[in-house]
Amino acid sequence: MPSVFIKTYGCQMNERDSEAVAAQFVAKGYSLASSEKGADVILLNTCSVRDQAEQKAIGKMQNLAAEVRRTDDDVVLGFLGCMAQSRGQELIAKTGVDLVVGTQKFHRTADYVDDLIAARRESIVDIAEEQGSEAKIREHIDLTGVTGGGANARQLVSGFVSIMQGCNQYCTFCIVPYTRGQERSRSIEDIVAECRGLAAAGYKEITLLGQIVTSYGKREIGTCDGKSAFVQLLDAVHEIEGLQRVRFTSPHPKGYGDDLAEAYARLPKLCESAHIPVQSGSDRVLKLMHRGYTRERFLGIIQKLRAVKPGIGLTTDIIVGFPGETDEDFEQTMSLAREVEFDNAYIFKYSPRKDTPAATMENQVPIELREERHARLLAQVNEIADKRYAAFLNQKVQVLVEGPSRRNAARLQGRTRCNKIVVFEGADRHIGQLMDLKIERVGSFTLYGDPAILNL
Ligand code: SAM
Repeated sequence: MPSVFIKTYGCQMNERDSEAVAAQFVAKGYSLASSEKGADVILLNTCSVRDQAEQKAIGKMQNLAAEVRRTDDDVVLGFLGCMAQSRGQELIAKTGVDLVVGTQKFHRTADYVDDLIAARRESIVDIAEEQGSEAKIREHIDLTGVTGGGANARQLVSGFVSIMQGCNQYCTFCIVPYTRGQERSRSIEDIVAECRGLAAAGYKEITLLGQIVTSYGKREIGTCDGKSAFVQLLDAVHEIEGLQRVRFTSPHPKGYGDDLAEAYARLPKLCESAHIPVQSGSDRVLKLMHRGYTRERFLGIIQKLRAVKPGIGLTTDIIVGFPGETDEDFEQTMSLAREVEFDNAYIFKYSPRKDTPAATMENQVPIELREERHARLLAQVNEIADKRYAAFLNQKVQVLVEGPSRRNAARLQGRTRCNKIVVFEGADRHIGQLMDLKIERVGSFTLYGDPAILNL
């Protein structure tokens, strides 16, 4: 059977989509190639959030097409995901690919490749909407029987489950509502069944995924006994036997009601960590962005979460150089980052996106200024993060051991409840275990535990 290589750009949702597509191929008997070299099918699952991500994928495909087609005309090349959705047919002419599959059609990918290999069709573009597509990202690669640790063991420990598709927020900078469509949520029963399957296969941790998970089930399920649909889902997933940890990403600040803050106190498996995109510290810019909250409201959420869980790990996304952002606005973002003291922040230079309102706003910020602000904010975020990581020195932490360290496969890596990576020396039998470690050294965004003082 042919081999398929899938390269993923962008967020964890894209990673999850790729895993589900890979599982379709495995179910049909294809093998998964570890690189594009020699693969019979090469698919790039793309991101559209910033122009740079699109250009990277287009450049990669143009190089691949030039190289692969020189020696083998039968290799199937394709784009999947967000950029496939937003650019569609034009990608065929621009890059010479055979296949373009949009965000509501991932589940059809393997069938389309079969058709292309059997030469039943010359090229395929499918970016139509499909009702019920939110429930189609459900297959996981079956690793039952895989033994001996290694990269596969990492996947058996921690799994991702897509709970919804789309976004209705329409932030003025963001292309996602156009590439992923309107919000559609899966049912609680369906999601719980998928999570149960993962737990039965040995997974210990599940991360629930969505563009804005806190909007989960608003329309389809609604509030019950003061609990949002998302908190009802957390309650249901929390009940699953065998699961030891539950996480989610990304929430929207607007969705942080008291019910969610209380869930951290109520549900022991819910890890005290949150990635809450703030985007800006200036009320004026937040309004222009159509974010739906103020700086004060955001700070109130942080206060509430730290009151419930003082050690909670907090990360965020920030955009610098949004159209019309003045020096004063940017200083407010700097001061918000100082006030909150995030454990980390992903800082993005504003990138104008097709069809979004911000792309045609007046006062676009020059690229040099966007770069300067990015560098200043990054330096400050890193300084604060160093201080926060240093506070772990000599502390005892509990980690879930995921597998070999990404940087040094001779060591293992685990994750604390507050989402810090800890590298330590251990054995394969530790993978999938909860372990107490003492932190003996602190690196950049990594902690190091000493095996000699395991389980103090
Ligand atoms: N759904 C999440 C939310 O809106 O809170 C975030 C999803 S987005 C895939 C990840 C991050 O990319 C955003 O939080 C934002 O900081 C950044 N981003 C989105 N559009 C952008 C743009 N046009 N330019 C720069 N960064 C952007």
